[in-house]
This record gives sequence, C-alpha cells and structure tokens, in this order.
Amino acid sequence: MKKIVITGAAGFLGSHLAKRLIAQGNQVVGLDNFSTGRMENIAELTESPLFTCITCDVSQETTLLHSELNEAEEIYHLASPASPKYYQANPFSTILVNTAGTKHMLELAKRNQAKLLFSSTSEVYGDPEVHPQPETYRGHVNTWGPRACYDEAKRLGEVLCYEYWHRYGVEVKIARIFNTYSAGLRNDDGRVISNFVTQALACRDMTVYGDGSQTRSFCYVDDTVRALELMMESDRATGETINIGSPVETTIIQVAQWIKELSHSDSRITFSPLPADDPRLRRPVIDKARKLLGWEPRVGLSEGLCLTIHAYRKQMALNGGD
Ligand code: NAD
Ligand code: UDP
Repeated sequence: MKKIVITGAAGFLGSHLAKRLIAQGNQVVGLDNFSTGRMENIAELTESPLFTCITCDVSQETTLLHSELNEAEEIYHLASPASPKYYQANPFSTILVNTAGTKHMLELAKRNQAKLLFSSTSEVYGDPEVHPQPETYRGHVNTWGPRACYDEAKRLGEVLCYEYWHRYGVEVKIARIFNTYSAGLRNDDGRVISNFVTQALACRDMTVYGDGSQTRSFCYVDDTVRALELMMESDRATGETINIGSPVETTIIQVAQWIKELSHSDSRITFSPLPADDPRLRRPVIDKARKLLGWEPRVGLSEGLCLTIHAYRKQMALNGGD
C-alpha cells in the first residue's frame, strides 16, 4: 500500500484515477480547490478510510504545510482546468496552477523523494504543422491568443519538471494527454463530447464549431487513466515526455453524427464560427507509449460513446431531465 497525492482529485481524470488507486488498496490524499471539480465525482470515496480530501489551491505555497502530504511516495499533478471554456474564463489561475502549482508539487516530490507525474497536454503542439504528432515535434503555439494561457503554461510546467529532474534527480514523468472523454464530465463542461451528448439527449441543437472538418483523436477515460498509472510505475518513463491518446482520428462532424445516431436523437446539427486558434488536426504518434509502457487504447470510439451516452442518460433521468 502506497500513499499517493492527486492534485485535481475532484476533477474528471483525478476522480477516475483516485477510484482506481483506492480500489487497489492505496491511500490517496486529494488536493482540490473545486474550481471545476465536483464533490459528486468523489462522493463514493468520502466514506473510505483510504481517502482524504484537502480543499486548497495548489498554486499557494502554503499547500506544502499540510502534514497529510508527508511520506507520500507518488504525486499525480492533475490540477488545472482542461476545458477551453473554463481555462479561458480564468487565465491567470490556469497559468499559476500549471507553473507555480507545478513547482510546489515538484518541491514536495524533492522533499519526500517521491515520483511526480505531470499532466501535460497535446496542446503543447498548438495548431500542428506536423501530422500526426510525435513527442519530438516542438509545436506551433501562439503566445498571443485565447489558448496561450493553457498551452504555454503547460509548456512551462514541462520545463520546470525538466529542471527538477536534471538538477535534483526528481523522478518526473510527463504525460502529454490527448482528448479524453466518458461520463463524469460536467454537463456544462463545454468540451465537445459532453456538449454533444447532453444536447442530443435533450433534443437540443448540436453545436458544431466551424464546418466540423477539424479533427481530434478521442481516448476513453479508462485507457488514459491506465496509461498514467503505467507511467508512474515504469522506470523507463522517468525523465520522458510520452503521448497518451488514441491514434484513431475523427472529424468533429463525424462525432456529432455518431452521437446523434447512437442516442437516437432528433437534434439538428448546427454550425457556428470556429473559435480563435482552434487546432485543425490532432492525432498522437503513440509508438513511445507502446514501446516503453506496452500501452495502447483498448476501448474503441463507438463502444466508448455508447457507454458515455448510457451514463449521461441515467444521470439525466436521476436529475429529472437536463
Ligand atoms: P477537470 O477540470 O475536470 O479537473 C481539474 C481539477 O483540478 C478540478 O477538480 C479543479 O477543481 C482542480 N483544480 C484546478 N485548479 C486548481 C488549483 N489551483 N488548486 C487545486 N485544484 C485545482 O479537468 P480534467 O479533464 O480532469 O483534466 C485533468 C488534467 O489533465 C489537467 O491538468 C488537464 O490539463 C490534463 N489534460 C486533460 C485532458 C482531457 O482530455 N481530459 C487532455 C489533456 C490534458
Ligand atoms: N467543438 C464543437 N462544438 C462544441 C464544443 C467543441 O464543434 O460544442 C469543437 C471545438 O471547436 C474543437 C473540438 O470540438 O475543434 C474539440 O473541442 P474541445 O473543447 O472538446 O477540446 P480541444 O479543442 O481543447 O481539443
């Protein structure tokens, strides 16, 4: 049994990861300021003697004073809004949690001689000019636009990890996570699959931005979370950046049509302007994850979408509609 810290434990990925690690008998200390996270994501854990949740802002250095963090052997630093809607609404907290917050968690890792996994993102590649994207691609990112607070803060977070690894020998691992989905995202999260499923089930217009020809590669949450755990376990992942995502690329219009069909919805598909700097293409090369971790996704998109639609439908019925 290990003591494991998860920042952003009440969020989408953090709560799935916490459940998985606790089911294995580990002790989990979750840190969250509940800015985008929800208590209901971790409701089933609050009864567990293996789970402690501390409400705090990891961008504040005082976070390090919590005695519950002593003796933690592993740190998953996941805290940060991930949906463009939320990270753009709060650009300064987004910058801080990925920079100051990352530095604080690296200090904790140094103090405890713990391993640290940083949840970076495919956004470090920006609007890519190399397709698909291997880890060696250095990206095409705009510092002067609405996505910069997230993209560039994640890039600086990676730099901080590099320096702590290089100078102090902290065992860091950088997961460059591509679009991940499942139920458990808030209905108002704003990311494409939660939007489309919520709209389809409520028979509201499904809002495609642009003409829908832009692509993403969607990975089911169980696969992503399994990859994060494998990275933490593997010595071969130390000091490495590794793409975690699905190598199957889909246009956004195709996703809208599948969700409409799979949920038997009468929704109309509507088109509105593409947001500024919205990447045109996105697909990871996952050879490194295959080689170092023996990992690749297991859940296909249609299976994952069916599971997601089913769970959202159940949730909406419980909530009495939308
Ligand atoms: P999420 O918004 O659901 O969860 C983020 C959590 O972090 C929330 O619980 C939020 O309250 C918490 N948080 C934010 N700022 C905080 C702070 N200053 N102090 C403490 N807690 C704070 O997002 P998610 O989808 O679970 O993403 C988790 C991580 O994975 C993020 O770092 C994100 O950048 C990264 N990521 C996610 C995806 C994806 O598709 N889900 C893709 C790429 C990268
Ligand atoms: N998108 C869309 N309709 C929506 C929400 C998003 O067409 O209601 C598009 C968005 O413009 C982008 C893609 O879907 O091209 C993925 O958006 P998301 O916000 O989920 O993730 P990201 O852009 O960060 O990859």
